[in-house]
Amino acid sequence: MNDLYDRHRAVLPDWLALYYEDPLEITHGEGRYVWDAEGRRYLDFFGGILTTMTAHALPEVTKAVSEQAGRIIHSSTLYLNRPMVELAERIAQLSGIPDARVFFTTSGTEANDTALLLATTYRRSNTILAMRNSYHGRSFSSIGITGNRGWSPTSLSPLQTLYVHGGVRSRGPFAHLDDDAFVAACVEDLKDLLGHTRPPAALIAEPIQGVGGFTSPPDGLYAAFRDVLREQGILWIADEVQTGWGRTGEHFWGWQAHGRSGPPDMLTFAKGIGNGMSIGGVVARAEIMNCLDANSISTFGGTQITMAAGLANLNYLVEHDLQGNARRVGGLLIERLRAAAAGLPGVREVRGRGLMIGVELARPGTDEADPSAAAAVLEAAREGGLLIGKGGGHNTSALRIAPPLSLTVAEAEEGAAILEGALRAAY
Ligand code: PMP
Repeated sequence: MNDLYDRHRAVLPDWLALYYEDPLEITHGEGRYVWDAEGRRYLDFFGGILTTMTAHALPEVTKAVSEQAGRIIHSSTLYLNRPMVELAERIAQLSGIPDARVFFTTSGTEANDTALLLATTYRRSNTILAMRNSYHGRSFSSIGITGNRGWSPTSLSPLQTLYVHGGVRSRGPFAHLDDDAFVAACVEDLKDLLGHTRPPAALIAEPIQGVGGFTSPPDGLYAAFRDVLREQGILWIADEVQTGWGRTGEHFWGWQAHGRSGPPDMLTFAKGIGNGMSIGGVVARAEIMNCLDANSISTFGGTQITMAAGLANLNYLVEHDLQGNARRVGGLLIERLRAAAAGLPGVREVRGRGLMIGVELARPGTDEADPSAAAAVLEAAREGGLLIGKGGGHNTSALRIAPPLSLTVAEAEEGAAILEGALRAAY
């Protein structure tokens, strides 16, 4: 029996969502593989989006972290902090946002909270536009802008949130339209919404929805929204917590697929940039970042040890062109999965970009979500030695594939074969 699971249940909240009937304890990892407490090895097709953007136990990051731990970890903000300045310089330059300022936090939730604080203060409005099926975090304010019932444990909120269509291409009222008509319909819907409300502070959106099941709108949707938003001075915040750092292959940031009208006013980031060390943050134009007129600091946001990890990880990512790797290996993986899916009646869609791939399941012959098949595929993949994720607002019917960005072609082949077997077993 799983003694650790019994102890977990006795002392931790019921609402921590563990994967698998018999939950897994991961004890160590290397590259794209992890091992469980019984010594079984798994190819990790999900850890890349969670913590391990680059590779498990990357020696460059381990060295930077241990050296920094042996030197100093002190207040991140009360004294000059060289690694924080250096990482902020790099991120400001990479962000594409002009006159960019960076504020570091410890999580994506806190990054989005900060973006909301800035937007609402700057605009003197607590109305926020958010996308249906979105996920932005677990704090009181970020729950309020999360449009996914399964991840919204309260309906109370300090914000007035209006939900916008468009984040999900293949379901919803406009799904039957072609891309141009889809964008036009979403824009009309947004205009209609704006006609009935006080001026919102901002629109926040994930360029590709993560928890929502790796769904993406047609390229350019957010640029089209932007044209409308600009007329009222409404800000656009790109939540790049899952889409940043080259994961989508073609672009370094997810917003670049919508870049016709320029970079967002703010972007938020988190998750794997520290390759496991907790880094989050906001990048904003200086006039927006500096709109706060009281102190607002974070004890651990930007601490020397996480910044050292972030710098080492970012250097590795750029020097090894992991964005290019995501494009090449991710492209092959998508092709391979589409070929496998062609013979499987329960696979409704294989979608994605780079190493951010969603496989949406439906009851064979219908459009109905199939959460039990998704759960069964997850279990079967684990049996076969592969870890994947699930997501999607429609009863969690999408499989999520997001390996570390250093995935090799051989590993992509190995994972695709295991996943194909798991899909076949489920149908
Ligand atoms: N934004 C997005 C798009 C996310 O996927 C997540 C985490 N799943 C968050 C924000 C919140 O990040 P964290 O869990 O680090 O608070």
